[in-house]
Amino acid sequence: MKNILLSLLLCLFSGVVCEAVEVVYPRAQNVTINSGSTFFVGNSQKDFKINGQKIPRNKKGAFAYVVELNVGENVFTFDDSIQKQIYKITRPAPKTYSGTSSEQIDFSDYKIVMTSSDNIPLRSTPVDAGINRLSHLPSGVMLTVSGEKNGFYKVLLDNNETGWVAKSSVIAVKENPAANLKGYDYIDTDEFFIFVFHLDKKVPFVIEEGSTMSLKLYNVNNYAPYEMQFPYSEAAGSEKLYGYSGEFAGNDFIWKIRKPLKIDQKHPLKGVKIAIDAGHGGAECGAISCFGEKEKDINLSISKYLRKELQKRGADVYMTRTHDTYHGLRERIDNANEKNSVILISIHGNALPDNLDPNKNKGTSIFYYYDMAKPLAESILKTMTKQLGMNNDKIRQASLALVRNTNALSILIEVGYLINPDDSVLLREADFQKAAAVSIADGIENYLLSRK
Ligand SMILES: [Zn+2]
Repeated sequence: MKNILLSLLLCLFSGVVCEAVEVVYPRAQNVTINSGSTFFVGNSQKDFKINGQKIPRNKKGAFAYVVELNVGENVFTFDDSIQKQIYKITRPAPKTYSGTSSEQIDFSDYKIVMTSSDNIPLRSTPVDAGINRLSHLPSGVMLTVSGEKNGFYKVLLDNNETGWVAKSSVIAVKENPAANLKGYDYIDTDEFFIFVFHLDKKVPFVIEEGSTMSLKLYNVNNYAPYEMQFPYSEAAGSEKLYGYSGEFAGNDFIWKIRKPLKIDQKHPLKGVKIAIDAGHGGAECGAISCFGEKEKDINLSISKYLRKELQKRGADVYMTRTHDTYHGLRERIDNANEKNSVILISIHGNALPDNLDPNKNKGTSIFYYYDMAKPLAESILKTMTKQLGMNNDKIRQASLALVRNTNALSILIEVGYLINPDDSVLLREADFQKAAAVSIADGIENYLLSRK
Protein backbone atom coordinates (compact mmCIF):
# COMPACT_ATOMS: atom_id res chain seq x y z
CA MET A 1 0.00 0.00 0.00
CA LYS A 2 2.81 2.38 0.95
CA ASN A 3 4.53 1.59 -2.32
CA ILE A 4 1.42 2.44 -4.31
CA LEU A 5 0.90 5.72 -2.49
CA LEU A 6 4.53 6.60 -2.96
CA SER A 7 4.46 5.83 -6.65
CA LEU A 8 1.18 7.72 -7.09
CA LEU A 9 2.84 10.76 -5.51
CA LEU A 10 5.87 10.30 -7.72
CA CYS A 11 3.57 10.14 -10.74
CA LEU A 12 1.75 13.32 -9.76
CA PHE A 13 4.97 15.20 -9.29
CA SER A 14 6.62 13.89 -12.41
CA GLY A 15 3.60 14.86 -14.52
CA VAL A 16 3.38 11.42 -16.13
CA VAL A 17 -0.09 10.04 -16.83
CA CYS A 18 -0.32 7.11 -14.45
CA GLU A 19 -2.66 4.35 -15.22
CA ALA A 20 -2.03 1.42 -13.00
CA VAL A 21 -2.67 -2.11 -14.16
CA GLU A 22 -6.33 -2.86 -13.36
CA VAL A 23 -6.70 -6.41 -12.07
CA VAL A 24 -10.35 -7.57 -11.95
CA TYR A 25 -9.59 -11.17 -10.96
CA PRO A 26 -8.67 -12.31 -8.34
CA ARG A 27 -11.00 -9.82 -6.71
CA ALA A 28 -8.65 -8.99 -3.80
CA GLN A 29 -4.88 -8.80 -3.27
CA ASN A 30 -4.97 -11.44 -0.55
CA VAL A 31 -7.02 -14.49 -1.45
CA THR A 32 -7.20 -18.22 -0.89
CA ILE A 33 -7.65 -20.32 -4.02
CA ASN A 34 -7.93 -24.07 -3.79
CA SER A 35 -6.53 -25.03 -7.19
CA GLY A 36 -3.24 -25.98 -8.82
CA SER A 37 -3.48 -22.90 -11.03
CA THR A 38 -5.43 -19.69 -11.43
CA PHE A 39 -5.32 -16.61 -13.62
CA PHE A 40 -4.99 -12.86 -13.45
CA VAL A 41 -7.54 -11.05 -15.56
CA GLY A 42 -7.61 -7.32 -16.20
CA ASN A 43 -6.43 -4.52 -18.45
CA SER A 44 -3.50 -2.16 -18.73
CA GLN A 45 -2.64 0.58 -21.17
CA LYS A 46 1.08 -0.03 -20.87
CA ASP A 47 3.57 -2.85 -20.59
CA PHE A 48 3.96 -4.58 -17.27
CA LYS A 49 5.52 -7.66 -15.77
CA ILE A 50 4.40 -10.25 -13.25
CA ASN A 51 7.38 -11.65 -11.31
CA GLY A 52 9.67 -10.35 -14.02
CA GLN A 53 7.69 -11.94 -16.89
CA LYS A 54 6.30 -9.57 -19.53
CA ILE A 55 2.53 -10.09 -19.87
CA PRO A 56 0.90 -10.16 -23.31
CA ARG A 57 -2.10 -7.83 -23.80
CA ASN A 58 -4.40 -7.44 -26.77
CA LYS A 59 -4.81 -4.19 -28.74
CA LYS A 60 -7.28 -2.78 -26.22
CA GLY A 61 -5.07 -3.70 -23.27
CA ALA A 62 -7.04 -6.71 -21.97
CA PHE A 63 -5.07 -9.62 -20.57
CA ALA A 64 -5.56 -13.00 -18.94
CA TYR A 65 -2.50 -14.72 -17.52
CA VAL A 66 -2.40 -18.21 -16.04
CA VAL A 67 -0.17 -18.85 -13.02
CA GLU A 68 0.67 -22.12 -11.28
CA LEU A 69 0.03 -22.23 -7.54
CA ASN A 70 2.20 -24.04 -5.00
CA VAL A 71 0.75 -25.19 -1.72
CA GLY A 72 1.12 -22.30 0.76
CA GLU A 73 1.62 -18.63 -0.06
CA ASN A 74 2.32 -17.55 -3.65
CA VAL A 75 3.50 -13.98 -4.18
CA PHE A 76 3.00 -12.18 -7.50
CA THR A 77 4.50 -8.76 -8.05
CA PHE A 78 3.03 -6.58 -10.79
CA ASP A 79 5.53 -4.06 -12.02
CA ASP A 80 4.81 -1.44 -14.70
CA SER A 81 8.15 0.29 -14.02
CA ILE A 82 6.40 3.10 -12.12
CA GLN A 83 4.53 1.24 -9.48
CA LYS A 84 4.24 -2.21 -7.97
CA GLN A 85 1.22 -4.19 -6.81
CA ILE A 86 1.61 -7.32 -4.74
CA TYR A 87 -0.86 -10.21 -4.90
CA LYS A 88 -0.66 -12.98 -2.31
CA ILE A 89 -2.55 -16.14 -3.16
CA THR A 90 -2.70 -18.94 -0.62
CA ARG A 91 -3.32 -22.47 -1.82
CA PRO A 92 -4.44 -24.75 1.05
CA ALA A 93 -2.88 -28.19 1.41
CA PRO A 94 -5.04 -30.71 -0.42
CA LYS A 95 -7.32 -32.62 1.94
CA THR A 96 -6.80 -36.35 1.92
CA TYR A 97 -10.04 -37.93 0.78
CA SER A 98 -11.54 -39.97 3.59
CA GLY A 99 -13.33 -42.31 1.20
CA THR A 100 -16.76 -42.08 2.78
CA SER A 101 -18.76 -42.69 -0.39
CA SER A 102 -22.04 -43.82 1.06
CA GLU A 103 -23.15 -47.35 0.38
CA GLN A 104 -26.75 -48.11 -0.52
CA ILE A 105 -28.83 -49.25 2.44
CA ASP A 106 -31.90 -51.39 1.79
CA PHE A 107 -34.76 -51.07 4.29
CA SER A 108 -36.25 -54.23 5.79
CA ASP A 109 -39.70 -52.59 5.55
CA TYR A 110 -40.75 -50.11 2.89
CA LYS A 111 -41.50 -46.60 4.11
CA ILE A 112 -44.04 -44.09 2.85
CA VAL A 113 -42.90 -40.49 2.48
CA MET A 114 -44.54 -37.37 1.07
CA THR A 115 -42.99 -34.45 -0.84
CA SER A 116 -42.95 -31.43 1.44
CA SER A 117 -42.64 -28.63 -1.12
CA ASP A 118 -43.21 -27.95 -4.81
CA ASN A 119 -40.89 -28.67 -7.71
CA ILE A 120 -39.08 -31.62 -6.10
CA PRO A 121 -36.90 -33.48 -8.62
CA LEU A 122 -37.57 -37.20 -9.04
CA ARG A 123 -34.24 -38.46 -10.37
CA SER A 124 -32.92 -41.52 -12.15
CA THR A 125 -29.72 -41.57 -10.04
CA PRO A 126 -28.95 -40.56 -6.42
CA VAL A 127 -26.91 -37.51 -7.47
CA ASP A 128 -27.77 -33.82 -7.32
CA ALA A 129 -26.26 -33.04 -10.74
CA GLY A 130 -26.38 -33.91 -14.40
CA ILE A 131 -29.19 -34.93 -16.73
CA ASN A 132 -31.07 -37.24 -14.37
CA ARG A 133 -34.49 -35.66 -13.78
CA LEU A 134 -37.49 -37.90 -14.45
CA SER A 135 -39.98 -35.23 -13.40
CA HIS A 136 -40.64 -32.47 -10.89
CA LEU A 137 -43.20 -33.33 -8.22
CA PRO A 138 -45.43 -30.91 -6.35
CA SER A 139 -45.97 -30.93 -2.60
CA GLY A 140 -48.16 -33.73 -1.28
CA VAL A 141 -47.10 -36.64 -3.54
CA MET A 142 -46.73 -39.91 -1.62
CA LEU A 143 -43.83 -42.18 -2.49
CA THR A 144 -42.89 -45.70 -1.43
CA VAL A 145 -39.18 -45.86 -0.58
CA SER A 146 -37.11 -49.02 -0.18
CA GLY A 147 -33.62 -47.79 0.68
CA GLU A 148 -31.25 -44.86 0.73
CA LYS A 149 -27.94 -43.65 -0.63
CA ASN A 150 -26.02 -40.32 -0.66
CA GLY A 151 -28.85 -38.49 1.11
CA PHE A 152 -31.48 -39.77 -1.36
CA TYR A 153 -34.31 -42.25 -0.88
CA LYS A 154 -34.80 -44.96 -3.48
CA VAL A 155 -38.36 -44.61 -4.77
CA LEU A 156 -40.27 -47.69 -5.89
CA LEU A 157 -42.40 -46.96 -8.91
CA ASP A 158 -44.49 -49.58 -10.70
CA ASN A 159 -43.21 -52.26 -13.01
CA ASN A 160 -39.80 -52.48 -11.25
CA GLU A 161 -39.02 -48.90 -12.22
CA THR A 162 -37.19 -46.83 -9.60
CA GLY A 163 -36.30 -43.23 -8.93
CA TRP A 164 -34.52 -41.17 -6.29
CA VAL A 165 -35.71 -38.26 -4.19
CA ALA A 166 -33.67 -36.11 -1.76
CA LYS A 167 -34.36 -37.11 1.86
CA SER A 168 -34.57 -33.40 2.77
CA SER A 169 -37.49 -32.92 0.31
CA VAL A 170 -39.86 -35.41 1.95
CA ILE A 171 -41.47 -36.20 5.30
CA ALA A 172 -42.54 -39.60 6.65
CA VAL A 173 -46.29 -40.33 6.56
CA LYS A 174 -48.45 -43.33 7.44
CA GLU A 175 -50.93 -43.34 4.56
CA ASN A 176 -51.61 -45.65 1.68
CA PRO A 177 -50.03 -44.03 -1.38
CA ALA A 178 -52.29 -45.80 -3.90
CA ALA A 179 -54.73 -43.58 -5.82
CA ASN A 180 -57.86 -44.29 -7.83
CA LEU A 181 -58.29 -43.01 -11.37
CA LYS A 182 -61.91 -42.15 -12.11
CA GLY A 183 -61.34 -41.31 -15.76
CA TYR A 184 -60.07 -38.43 -17.87
CA ASP A 185 -61.27 -35.58 -20.09
CA TYR A 186 -59.71 -34.44 -23.33
CA ILE A 187 -59.86 -30.73 -24.13
CA ASP A 188 -58.82 -29.38 -27.50
CA THR A 189 -57.98 -25.66 -27.58
CA ASP A 190 -56.40 -23.44 -30.24
CA GLU A 191 -53.07 -23.64 -28.45
CA PHE A 192 -52.99 -26.93 -26.54
CA PHE A 193 -53.88 -30.59 -26.44
CA ILE A 194 -55.05 -31.02 -22.84
CA PHE A 195 -55.77 -34.18 -20.84
CA VAL A 196 -57.25 -33.96 -17.36
CA PHE A 197 -56.94 -37.13 -15.24
CA HIS A 198 -59.31 -37.35 -12.30
CA LEU A 199 -57.41 -38.92 -9.41
CA ASP A 200 -58.20 -38.95 -5.70
CA LYS A 201 -54.55 -38.47 -4.63
CA LYS A 202 -51.46 -36.88 -6.09
CA VAL A 203 -49.15 -39.52 -7.58
CA PRO A 204 -45.64 -39.57 -9.03
CA PHE A 205 -45.51 -39.19 -12.81
CA VAL A 206 -43.05 -39.19 -15.70
CA ILE A 207 -43.53 -37.55 -19.09
CA GLU A 208 -41.35 -38.52 -22.03
CA GLU A 209 -41.15 -36.29 -25.08
CA GLY A 210 -40.93 -37.48 -28.64
CA SER A 211 -43.00 -37.80 -31.80
CA THR A 212 -45.16 -39.97 -29.56
CA MET A 213 -45.44 -38.37 -26.12
CA SER A 214 -45.80 -40.70 -23.18
CA LEU A 215 -47.25 -40.13 -19.72
CA LYS A 216 -46.95 -42.58 -16.84
CA LEU A 217 -48.92 -42.15 -13.61
CA TYR A 218 -47.60 -44.43 -10.85
CA ASN A 219 -49.28 -45.79 -7.72
CA VAL A 220 -52.68 -45.95 -9.44
CA ASN A 221 -54.87 -48.89 -8.35
CA ASN A 222 -55.45 -51.50 -11.08
CA TYR A 223 -52.66 -50.11 -13.24
CA ALA A 224 -48.93 -50.71 -12.96
CA PRO A 225 -48.43 -47.98 -14.04
CA TYR A 226 -51.25 -46.11 -15.83
CA GLU A 227 -49.77 -45.21 -19.20
CA MET A 228 -50.97 -43.02 -22.05
CA GLN A 229 -49.24 -42.67 -25.40
CA PHE A 230 -50.17 -39.57 -27.40
CA PRO A 231 -49.15 -39.59 -31.09
CA TYR A 232 -48.13 -35.95 -31.03
CA SER A 233 -46.58 -35.55 -34.48
CA GLU A 234 -49.53 -37.29 -36.11
CA ALA A 235 -52.09 -35.19 -34.21
CA ALA A 236 -50.09 -31.98 -34.69
CA GLY A 237 -48.98 -32.61 -38.27
CA SER A 238 -45.45 -31.65 -37.23
CA GLU A 239 -42.36 -33.20 -35.65
CA LYS A 240 -41.59 -29.95 -33.82
CA LEU A 241 -42.50 -29.83 -30.17
CA TYR A 242 -42.93 -26.38 -28.55
CA GLY A 243 -43.33 -27.31 -24.91
CA TYR A 244 -45.55 -29.22 -22.52
CA SER A 245 -46.39 -29.43 -18.85
CA GLY A 246 -47.71 -31.86 -16.26
CA GLU A 247 -49.27 -30.30 -13.18
CA PHE A 248 -51.72 -31.09 -10.42
CA ALA A 249 -54.73 -28.86 -9.82
CA GLY A 250 -56.02 -30.31 -6.59
CA ASN A 251 -55.92 -34.06 -7.28
CA ASP A 252 -56.55 -33.63 -11.02
CA PHE A 253 -53.46 -34.16 -13.12
CA ILE A 254 -53.35 -31.86 -16.13
CA TRP A 255 -51.16 -32.82 -19.09
CA LYS A 256 -50.80 -29.99 -21.61
CA ILE A 257 -48.95 -30.23 -24.90
CA ARG A 258 -48.53 -27.11 -26.98
CA LYS A 259 -49.74 -27.28 -30.56
CA PRO A 260 -47.36 -26.21 -33.34
CA LEU A 261 -47.26 -22.47 -33.98
CA LYS A 262 -48.91 -21.16 -37.12
CA ILE A 263 -45.94 -19.39 -38.68
CA ASP A 264 -46.37 -16.48 -41.07
CA GLN A 265 -43.79 -17.35 -43.74
CA LYS A 266 -43.01 -13.68 -44.46
CA HIS A 267 -42.95 -12.56 -40.84
CA PRO A 268 -42.11 -15.69 -38.87
CA LEU A 269 -41.82 -13.89 -35.52
CA LYS A 270 -45.21 -12.19 -35.83
CA GLY A 271 -47.19 -12.80 -32.65
CA VAL A 272 -44.69 -15.30 -31.23
CA LYS A 273 -44.50 -15.01 -27.44
CA ILE A 274 -40.86 -14.83 -26.36
CA ALA A 275 -39.47 -14.32 -22.86
CA ILE A 276 -35.99 -12.79 -22.55
CA ASP A 277 -34.17 -13.33 -19.28
CA ALA A 278 -31.23 -11.02 -18.61
CA GLY A 279 -29.10 -13.15 -16.28
CA HIS A 280 -28.25 -12.03 -12.72
CA GLY A 281 -29.11 -8.50 -11.46
CA GLY A 282 -29.13 -6.47 -8.25
CA ALA A 283 -26.66 -7.78 -5.68
CA GLU A 284 -25.86 -10.71 -7.98
CA CYS A 285 -23.31 -9.30 -10.45
CA GLY A 286 -22.32 -12.46 -12.30
CA ALA A 287 -18.83 -12.49 -13.82
CA ILE A 288 -16.56 -9.44 -14.23
CA SER A 289 -15.03 -8.65 -17.62
CA CYS A 290 -11.35 -7.88 -18.25
CA PHE A 291 -12.38 -4.20 -18.24
CA GLY A 292 -14.26 -4.46 -14.94
CA GLU A 293 -17.79 -4.42 -16.39
CA LYS A 294 -20.36 -6.51 -14.57
CA GLU A 295 -22.01 -9.39 -16.38
CA LYS A 296 -25.48 -8.37 -15.14
CA ASP A 297 -25.17 -5.01 -16.97
CA ILE A 298 -23.94 -6.52 -20.24
CA ASN A 299 -26.70 -9.16 -20.08
CA LEU A 300 -29.35 -6.49 -19.61
CA SER A 301 -27.98 -4.34 -22.40
CA ILE A 302 -27.94 -7.23 -24.92
CA SER A 303 -31.40 -8.31 -23.72
CA LYS A 304 -32.82 -4.85 -24.40
CA TYR A 305 -31.37 -4.80 -27.92
CA LEU A 306 -32.84 -8.25 -28.43
CA ARG A 307 -36.25 -7.09 -27.23
CA LYS A 308 -36.13 -4.19 -29.67
CA GLU A 309 -35.10 -6.44 -32.56
CA LEU A 310 -37.75 -9.06 -31.83
CA GLN A 311 -40.49 -6.45 -31.37
CA LYS A 312 -39.49 -4.84 -34.66
CA ARG A 313 -40.14 -8.21 -36.31
CA GLY A 314 -43.55 -8.54 -34.65
CA ALA A 315 -42.81 -10.79 -31.65
CA ASP A 316 -44.69 -10.41 -28.37
CA VAL A 317 -41.79 -9.96 -25.92
CA TYR A 318 -41.68 -10.25 -22.15
CA MET A 319 -38.53 -9.52 -20.11
CA THR A 320 -37.98 -11.18 -16.72
CA ARG A 321 -36.21 -7.99 -15.63
CA THR A 322 -35.88 -4.56 -17.22
CA HIS A 323 -33.76 -2.95 -14.52
CA ASP A 324 -30.82 -3.77 -12.26
CA THR A 325 -32.93 -5.81 -9.85
CA TYR A 326 -32.56 -9.25 -8.28
CA HIS A 327 -35.04 -12.02 -9.16
CA GLY A 328 -34.90 -15.66 -8.13
CA LEU A 329 -34.66 -18.28 -10.87
CA ARG A 330 -38.04 -19.84 -10.01
CA GLU A 331 -39.70 -16.41 -10.15
CA ARG A 332 -38.21 -15.74 -13.61
CA ILE A 333 -39.48 -19.08 -14.94
CA ASP A 334 -42.93 -18.70 -13.36
CA ASN A 335 -43.32 -15.22 -14.82
CA ALA A 336 -42.27 -16.37 -18.29
CA ASN A 337 -44.80 -19.22 -18.09
CA GLU A 338 -47.47 -16.89 -16.74
CA LYS A 339 -47.09 -14.94 -20.00
CA ASN A 340 -47.51 -18.21 -21.93
CA SER A 341 -44.09 -17.77 -23.55
CA VAL A 342 -43.24 -20.27 -26.28
CA ILE A 343 -39.53 -19.50 -26.21
CA LEU A 344 -37.46 -18.59 -23.14
CA ILE A 345 -33.98 -17.22 -23.77
CA SER A 346 -31.62 -16.46 -20.92
CA ILE A 347 -28.72 -14.14 -21.79
CA HIS A 348 -25.38 -14.55 -20.02
CA GLY A 349 -21.64 -13.96 -20.34
CA ASN A 350 -19.26 -16.77 -19.50
CA ALA A 351 -16.40 -17.18 -17.02
CA LEU A 352 -14.24 -20.14 -15.96
CA PRO A 353 -13.10 -22.01 -12.85
CA ASP A 354 -9.54 -21.35 -11.65
CA ASN A 355 -7.97 -24.43 -13.21
CA LEU A 356 -8.78 -23.43 -16.82
CA ASP A 357 -7.17 -20.94 -19.20
CA PRO A 358 -9.22 -17.86 -20.22
CA ASN A 359 -7.03 -17.44 -23.31
CA LYS A 360 -7.98 -20.87 -24.62
CA ASN A 361 -11.74 -20.60 -23.97
CA LYS A 362 -13.65 -18.15 -26.11
CA GLY A 363 -16.81 -17.77 -28.13
CA THR A 364 -20.51 -18.51 -27.91
CA SER A 365 -22.09 -21.55 -26.31
CA ILE A 366 -25.76 -22.39 -25.87
CA PHE A 367 -27.23 -24.61 -23.15
CA TYR A 368 -30.38 -26.72 -23.24
CA TYR A 369 -31.77 -29.54 -21.08
CA TYR A 370 -34.69 -31.06 -22.99
CA ASP A 371 -34.18 -32.41 -26.51
CA MET A 372 -37.07 -30.35 -27.89
CA ALA A 373 -35.01 -27.15 -27.34
CA LYS A 374 -31.86 -28.44 -29.04
CA PRO A 375 -32.77 -27.51 -32.66
CA LEU A 376 -33.50 -23.92 -31.54
CA ALA A 377 -30.13 -23.79 -29.76
CA GLU A 378 -28.37 -25.13 -32.88
CA SER A 379 -30.08 -22.63 -35.15
CA ILE A 380 -29.13 -19.64 -32.96
CA LEU A 381 -25.54 -20.82 -32.47
CA LYS A 382 -25.20 -21.09 -36.24
CA THR A 383 -26.28 -17.50 -36.91
CA MET A 384 -24.32 -16.10 -33.96
CA THR A 385 -21.03 -17.74 -34.91
CA LYS A 386 -21.49 -16.90 -38.59
CA GLN A 387 -22.64 -13.28 -38.25
CA LEU A 388 -20.53 -12.27 -35.25
CA GLY A 389 -17.42 -14.28 -36.12
CA MET A 390 -17.52 -15.80 -32.65
CA ASN A 391 -15.74 -19.05 -31.92
CA ASN A 392 -18.16 -22.00 -31.88
CA ASP A 393 -18.06 -23.02 -28.22
CA LYS A 394 -20.75 -25.62 -28.82
CA ILE A 395 -24.26 -26.62 -27.85
CA ARG A 396 -24.23 -28.15 -24.38
CA GLN A 397 -26.83 -30.14 -22.50
CA ALA A 398 -26.69 -29.05 -18.86
CA SER A 399 -28.85 -28.93 -15.79
CA LEU A 400 -29.41 -25.20 -15.33
CA ALA A 401 -32.68 -24.02 -13.77
CA LEU A 402 -33.74 -21.76 -16.64
CA VAL A 403 -33.32 -24.45 -19.29
CA ARG A 404 -35.15 -27.08 -17.23
CA ASN A 405 -38.44 -25.32 -17.95
CA THR A 406 -40.58 -27.57 -20.19
CA ASN A 407 -43.44 -25.11 -20.83
CA ALA A 408 -41.38 -23.27 -23.43
CA LEU A 409 -38.36 -24.02 -25.60
CA SER A 410 -35.83 -22.90 -23.00
CA ILE A 411 -32.19 -22.13 -23.76
CA LEU A 412 -29.35 -20.18 -22.15
CA ILE A 413 -26.92 -18.27 -24.35
CA GLU A 414 -23.39 -17.58 -23.15
CA VAL A 415 -22.71 -14.83 -25.68
CA GLY A 416 -18.96 -14.85 -25.02
CA TYR A 417 -16.36 -15.16 -22.26
CA LEU A 418 -16.10 -11.99 -20.20
CA ILE A 419 -12.66 -13.08 -18.98
CA ASN A 420 -11.29 -13.90 -22.43
CA PRO A 421 -9.33 -10.81 -23.54
CA ASP A 422 -10.68 -10.80 -27.12
CA ASP A 423 -14.30 -11.62 -26.23
CA SER A 424 -14.24 -8.98 -23.48
CA VAL A 425 -13.37 -6.28 -26.03
CA LEU A 426 -16.43 -7.23 -28.11
CA LEU A 427 -18.95 -7.76 -25.32
CA ARG A 428 -18.68 -4.15 -24.09
CA GLU A 429 -19.29 -2.59 -27.51
CA ALA A 430 -22.83 -1.38 -28.29
CA ASP A 431 -22.38 -2.30 -31.98
CA PHE A 432 -21.46 -5.86 -31.06
CA GLN A 433 -24.38 -6.13 -28.62
CA LYS A 434 -26.79 -4.95 -31.34
CA ALA A 435 -25.31 -7.38 -33.85
CA ALA A 436 -25.64 -10.17 -31.29
CA ALA A 437 -29.33 -9.32 -30.88
CA VAL A 438 -29.85 -9.39 -34.66
CA SER A 439 -28.08 -12.74 -34.99
CA ILE A 440 -30.18 -14.25 -32.18
CA ALA A 441 -33.38 -12.98 -33.81
CA ASP A 442 -32.24 -14.42 -37.16
CA GLY A 443 -31.51 -17.76 -35.49
CA ILE A 444 -35.02 -17.85 -33.98
CA GLU A 445 -36.57 -17.00 -37.36
CA ASN A 446 -34.61 -19.74 -39.11
CA TYR A 447 -35.77 -22.18 -36.45
CA LEU A 448 -39.41 -21.15 -36.79
CA LEU A 449 -39.23 -21.57 -40.56
CA SER A 450 -37.44 -24.92 -40.40
CA ARG A 451 -39.34 -28.17 -40.60
CA LYS A 452 -37.52 -29.82 -37.69
ZN1 LIG B 1 -24.16 -15.62 -15.86
